Amino acid sequence: MTPPRNSAVGERAPTGAAKAANKAKKKSGATSSAKGAKDAQDAKALPAAKAARTPKAAAGAGPESRTALVRRARRINRELAEVYPYAHPELDFENPFELLVATVLSAQTTDLRVNQTTPALFAAYPTPEDMAAADPETLEQLIRPTGFFRAKAKSLIGLSTAIRDRFGGEVPGRIEDLVSLPGVGRKTAHVVLGNAFGRPGITVDTHFGRLVRRWKWTEATDPEKVEAEICALFPKSEWTMLSHRVIFHGRRICHSRRPACGACPIAPLCPSYGEGETDPEKAEKLLKYEKGGKPGQRLKPPPDYPGLPAPPLGGDA
Ligand code: SF4
Repeated sequence: MTPPRNSAVGERAPTGAAKAANKAKKKSGATSSAKGAKDAQDAKALPAAKAARTPKAAAGAGPESRTALVRRARRINRELAEVYPYAHPELDFENPFELLVATVLSAQTTDLRVNQTTPALFAAYPTPEDMAAADPETLEQLIRPTGFFRAKAKSLIGLSTAIRDRFGGEVPGRIEDLVSLPGVGRKTAHVVLGNAFGRPGITVDTHFGRLVRRWKWTEATDPEKVEAEICALFPKSEWTMLSHRVIFHGRRICHSRRPACGACPIAPLCPSYGEGETDPEKAEKLLKYEKGGKPGQRLKPPPDYPGLPAPPLGGDA
C-alpha cells in the first residue's frame, strides 16, 4: 500500500504513520528496562498525534516559501526535541581530549565500537603527552577494532604531539586551531566544540546530511554548504542539540536504506514520507536502539537515557 507521496513541501498528514508512531512509542517505552526512564519517556510521549493534526503546515502546492521552510524546519526540531528529550553525544568521554580521540576513531565505524574500544585506550594513554609518546604498533593494536587502525594511530599520535608542542598539552577551544590538528576536520572540530566546550555548532555527518536533504531543508551535498544553510534556519542556541536530535533520528528511525516512515512521528512534516516502509507493523520492526527496545551505543549512558547500556567489547547483543 502506497499512500500519496507528499509534494515538495508535503501534503495531508499521513495519519496511518502517525498512528504507527504512537504504537512505536508505546512499544519502545514498554521495552525500556529502567522504570523511571520509561516513565520519563512515556511522559514525553511521541508528538505523533499532535503532528498528525499538523494542518497545512506542510500542505499546499508550489514551491515552499522561505518563511514556510523556516517554520517547518523549526517545527520538526521541536517535535524531535519531544521524541528525543535525552538526545546526547553517543561517544563515551570524560574530557575534551577523550572526546577528540573518540571522534577521530569514530570515522567509518559505529560509536558503539568506539565506546567498546576506548576504555583500554584511555587507561593506557590518559593524556596527550602519553599518547604522543605511544609505540605506534601497541597503539594500533588497541584501536584495531575501530578499523583503519594504522591511519587512525598516525592521526592520534600526530594530534597528540601537536597538542603537546603547540597548545601546552590542552585541547584548543577554537575551530581554526582544532582543524590544524592532524586528522581533524570541521565535523570533528564541531563535535568537540559543541560538547566539550559548549560552543554551538552543527555537526554534518552522514545521518545529518541525509535527513536534512530528505526534509528539503537543503539540496547541498557539500558538508560546509549544508552546515551554512542549516545554520541559517535556526538560532545559534539550537545548533548543537539540533545536531544530536537529527543524528538520533537518523540512527533510530530514518535509516539510510529503509527509513521506518510508518513509525515516524514527524512523517506529517516530511516531504519524503513514503521513501521507506510505510506499513506500521513492518516499520516498527525497523526501529533501532531504545526505540526498538535494544541496547544503546554507550557503555555508560546518561541517567535519563531510556534504553539499556551497550554491552562491553566481545559481548555484543
Ligand atoms: S523519510 Fe525519514 S523523516 Fe521522512 S517520514 Fe520517512 S522516516 Fe520519517
